[in-house]
Amino acid sequence: MTRVLVLGGGSGGLVAANKVKRLLGKEVEVTLVDRNTHHEFMPAYPWVAFGMREPEAIRRPLANLEKRGIRYLQATVEALDPERNRVKTTAGELSYDYLIVSLGAEALPSPAQDGHAPWSLEGALKLREALRTFKGGKVVVGVSSPYYPCPPAPYEVAGQVEFALKVKGVRDKSTVEVFHLNPAPLAGMGPVISGKVLEILKSKGIAFHGGFEPVEFAGGKVKAKDGRELSYDLLILTPPSPPTGWCGKAPSRGPRASPRWTG
Ligand SMILES: Cc1cc2nc3c(=O)[nH]c(=O)nc-3n(C[C@H](O)[C@H](O)[C@H](O)COP(=O)(O)OP(=O)(O)OC[C@H]3O[C@@H](n4cnc5c(N)ncnc54)[C@H](O)[C@@H]3O)c2cc1C
Repeated sequence: MTRVLVLGGGSGGLVAANKVKRLLGKEVEVTLVDRNTHHEFMPAYPWVAFGMREPEAIRRPLANLEKRGIRYLQATVEALDPERNRVKTTAGELSYDYLIVSLGAEALPSPAQDGHAPWSLEGALKLREALRTFKGGKVVVGVSSPYYPCPPAPYEVAGQVEFALKVKGVRDKSTVEVFHLNPAPLAGMGPVISGKVLEILKSKGIAFHGGFEPVEFAGGKVKAKDGRELSYDLLILTPPSPPTGWCGKAPSRGPRASPRWTG
């Protein structure tokens, strides 16, 4: 029987494992490896931060895959050996006929110790707690590097925080500002999309600071390379990711396996 090994039980790995099993049924033995016991639906992290979902609603046990005939192994992937069709994990060495790598983008440490990052479940819950006790003030949402999962997320989060302040009745005592390294919101999608996002931000009274490259976070202030400064009472900052994350470049550590079986 053909053995398909899927590394990662995030959105990509889960979809791939299910699709392969559904398409090829008994012809394949599909094994999915993840270091965590649960799949987490990452786009819902901000919903948790703003109290629109509870953590249990956005995560599912990966062991549920067994009901669909997919084997789940909890282990950390340590090394790939594409020459020998082997993967080294904390649960031992695994062999495969076809390999699907979907290990996601690794978050690096944040440059701001006081920054909140709803880019993980833990970060979302910390932001929820900070908002619970927030009495109004300056809220700044920004990006720490050009690479982070989900380019629109900072604008979505800024809109949600603005709404949360209204619900708490402290919007009139607060300002919400967004900074980004790019000159315009979602600059890569062209001027029409950028213009629309700017329009939405403006309609909510959210200021946008473009071309803002943060170089220092200290004393409740973020300083940009060009000398601009923004002070804040609450900072929400994307954690930096290495440039092999969401932008779609093949990780140098692994092979692209799917063309072999789709071709
Ligand atoms: C706040 C936020 C909002 C988003 N909003 C959207 C949106 O609206 N629309 C959209 O399309 N996308 C959105 N995204 C992006 C989307 O969630 C990601 O693109 C997607 O999750 C990537 O899937 P993946 O399988 O490549 O990686 P991930 O979902 O990150 O999964 C990687 C998996 O690999 C596991 N893993 C990593 N390293 C190892 C290892 N060494 N050993 C074992 N297991 C390991 C992890 O535990 C994880 O389960 C958002 C992301 C965030 C953070």
